[in-house]
Amino acid sequence: MSYHGQVPYLTPPDRLGDLLEGEPTYRATQLRRWLYRTPVLRTDDMTNLPLEARNRLRLWPFDVEVEQTADAGQTVKWLFRAPDGAAMEAVLIGYPDRATVCISSQAGCALGCTFCATGQFGFERHLDAGEIVAQVAYAAAHLRTVGLAGVPRRLTNIVFMGMGEPLANYDRVREAIRRIVEEMSMSARSITVSTVGLVPGMRRLAEEPWPVNLAVSLHAADDELRTSLVPINARYPIAEVEAAAAHYFETKGRRVSIEWTLMDGVNDTDEQADGLAAIARRLHAHVNVIEMNPTPLSALQPSSRIDRFLARLRRSGVNATKRINRGQEIDAACGQLRAIQADEQLKTAAPNADIG
Ligand code: SF4
Repeated sequence: MSYHGQVPYLTPPDRLGDLLEGEPTYRATQLRRWLYRTPVLRTDDMTNLPLEARNRLRLWPFDVEVEQTADAGQTVKWLFRAPDGAAMEAVLIGYPDRATVCISSQAGCALGCTFCATGQFGFERHLDAGEIVAQVAYAAAHLRTVGLAGVPRRLTNIVFMGMGEPLANYDRVREAIRRIVEEMSMSARSITVSTVGLVPGMRRLAEEPWPVNLAVSLHAADDELRTSLVPINARYPIAEVEAAAAHYFETKGRRVSIEWTLMDGVNDTDEQADGLAAIARRLHAHVNVIEMNPTPLSALQPSSRIDRFLARLRRSGVNATKRINRGQEIDAACGQLRAIQADEQLKTAAPNADIG
C-alpha cells in the first residue's frame, strides 16, 4: 500500500506551505486550522480550500482498518494501519460531561510486560509525532462530525495509554504534546502520559514547559514480583521510579497517579495492597485499580478480589478508584484489537494451527 498525495500531519505545521506550492500563503494557514483547530475526517470537508489543493493531500497517515463501537455508542475503538503495515490503536471514551481519547505512541512495544497484549507482540517501530497527533485529531474530528451518543462534541482529555511506552519514544511524543497544546490549543493539564517507569524520561518530562499529568504503571510493590511482570524493572527498580515520580510531583506540582492492573493470585494480596499503600502515601498519589482484560497469549487472569483490595487501600488512607472498564466487548485494552486481528489472520492462514 502506498499513498497518493502528501500527508499534512507528517509535515511540521510551519512547513505546510511546502504542500501547497503555487497557492497563496494564507492557504497554509487555512489548512493548519483544518488539521488542528477544527479537524475534519475528509479533505472534502475543508470547504475553503480549492479542490485542486485538497486533491493534492492525503489527509490521514493511516487507513482505518477496524472501527468498533460499544457501551451504547459511547465508546469507539480504531485500529489504524500505516502504509508500511505498522498498527496503532486509539479508543475514544465518552461520558456525559467529557470525552477522552487513549492513543498509541509506538507500533508494538519492546518492554514485554507479561500481562499486556502489545508486549506479547514485540516492537515494530516508533510512531512519528504526526502519526501520534493524527490519532488525537481523528478522534476530535469524529466527535465533531459524527459524535457519540449523549457525549459533548469536544474532545477534553488525552491519555498516552494505548500501544507502546511513550517515554521510550520521547522526542516524537514531546513534539506530539507540543502540537496538542500549541496547535490544537488543548490544556496540558488535560493530557496524561503513562509510563512503566522509564526513569530518565520521567526526569526529562519534569523539565518540559507543560504540566501534563504523569501516571506510573506500578502493578507490584516489591522488585521481585514487579520484575516478573514488568521486566524493565530490573533496570529501573521501584525505589528509583518512586524517586523520579516524587521529583515530578515536586517540580510540576501535579499529583502523580499510580496504575495497578489487578491479576488473580499475583498482585491482589493484602501484602501487595499494603506495599502499594505505603508508596502511594509517600507520593500523595491517587491509585487507579484496573480490572485486567485477559489477553489471548497469556494465562494471567482478572482478580475477583478487586473490592477487597480497594477497601484495604482506602482503610490505609489512600485515595483509590476502580477504573471502569469501558468497551470490554470490543477488546479495549491496549494491543487487544491488534492481537485479535492477528489471531484471526493466523486462523485464516492456517486453519488447523494450534494458536492456544
Ligand atoms: S504495558 Fe505498556 S510498556 Fe508494558 S509491554 Fe504493554 S505497552 Fe509496553
